[in-house]
Amino acid sequence: MTALVALDAAVERVMAACRPLEPVGMALADALGCVTAEDVTSGESIPPFANTAMDGYAVRAADTAGAPTELEVVGTIAAGSAASFVVGPGQAARIMTGAPIPDGADAIVMVERTTVLDGGRRVSVSTPAGVGDHVRPAGEDVAPGQLVFEAGTVLGPGHLGVLASIGRQTVCVRPRPRVGVLSTGDELVAGGGPLLPGQIRDSNRITLLALVAGSGFEPVDLGICPDDESHLSGAISHAVERCDAVLTSGGVSVGDFDFVKVALDRLSGGTMQWMQVAIKPAKPFAFGTIEGVPVFGLPGNPVSSMVSFECFARPALRQMMGHPESSLSRPRVRGIADEEFRRGADGKLHLVRVLARWQGDGRLHVRSSGPQASNLLRTMALANALVLLPDGDGVKSGAEVEVLLLDGLS
Ligand code: AMP
Ligand code: MG
Repeated sequence: MTALVALDAAVERVMAACRPLEPVGMALADALGCVTAEDVTSGESIPPFANTAMDGYAVRAADTAGAPTELEVVGTIAAGSAASFVVGPGQAARIMTGAPIPDGADAIVMVERTTVLDGGRRVSVSTPAGVGDHVRPAGEDVAPGQLVFEAGTVLGPGHLGVLASIGRQTVCVRPRPRVGVLSTGDELVAGGGPLLPGQIRDSNRITLLALVAGSGFEPVDLGICPDDESHLSGAISHAVERCDAVLTSGGVSVGDFDFVKVALDRLSGGTMQWMQVAIKPAKPFAFGTIEGVPVFGLPGNPVSSMVSFECFARPALRQMMGHPESSLSRPRVRGIADEEFRRGADGKLHLVRVLARWQGDGRLHVRSSGPQASNLLRTMALANALVLLPDGDGVKSGAEVEVLLLDGLS
């Protein structure tokens, strides 16, 4: 029997072969979640001009020293316009939030501290204003020439807004890997029609495509391939031509009809690594490159294919997308087992599907989401975390455990 490979060692082999993709210029609207490959410096100020933070009156602060006081209103400035006049001594201008501070004025009196007089021709100011009150200076947020975001920044909605504010249309990022997803197996059927004896519906493809999309990569649906060497070879060759990485599911465990193995071995020039990883579920796993494209041979059992994706494909694909090393894997935290987790010693790390919840004591508490066999997808769907249960006989209720956070918690 093949020796078991430790999880970390298997991950390392995969990571070594998945280098970051070449940067591209990407439209801001497409760049959410992408990682910058340039130091972004601003050519502009944000805000571009001094403007008011309040609706009110632009005044000369010195004129209000003896407030309450009355000033002559010389005009109105709305956001989007600029004053064609100067605010002179004893004068004020009505002004709306975001409008430029007119020449002559050096402070804003908020509207709540004023009373309109004379049908709007004069205004009474109730309290003195200080120089700069409610004025947002030009360049307060970003100054011209300032380094705004370093290369390696993961772009969130706020980053995209800042880039838009400084006039950028595109940003230099690592592209999202295009990830092909191929289901393999004679028993698999797509769609909702009746099943013939022995057939099952293909669930891995929709799940893996969703994991790919949900992780910020670009999913490519490669359909179902029967257990047939020439079909598999054709489908995988075609896949590596149009994708940055390929995920297959099925046909990698011992005792299969060996067609996936034959096809991947032949196409990879014999460099495919067939591993038995020391984890449960998701022990069988194949990895290699074909024409330089990483190919992940995930196991067919639905839970195993998901766990294998989480352990190997997601971190590797994040690395291809340029994510920093510290955030390639899902967060791991300490949690409290709210029930006993029993297991037997088998040389493997068990990844137990759990429901995790932050509780009033500030700690993450976990309970099994149900039966753990690798074909039982529903208990994986219900889980939002995996407890990493080391080899041995398990832990008692109340023990501290290591928890890998999945979507919904991370
Ligand atoms: P295999 O790794 O091909 O031996 O498959 C292991 C188990 O997973 C078998 O019970 C398969 O029928 C099942 N399986 C394989 N591929 C899929 C799939 N795409 N969707 C659902 N179940 C699958
Ligand atoms: Mg199969």
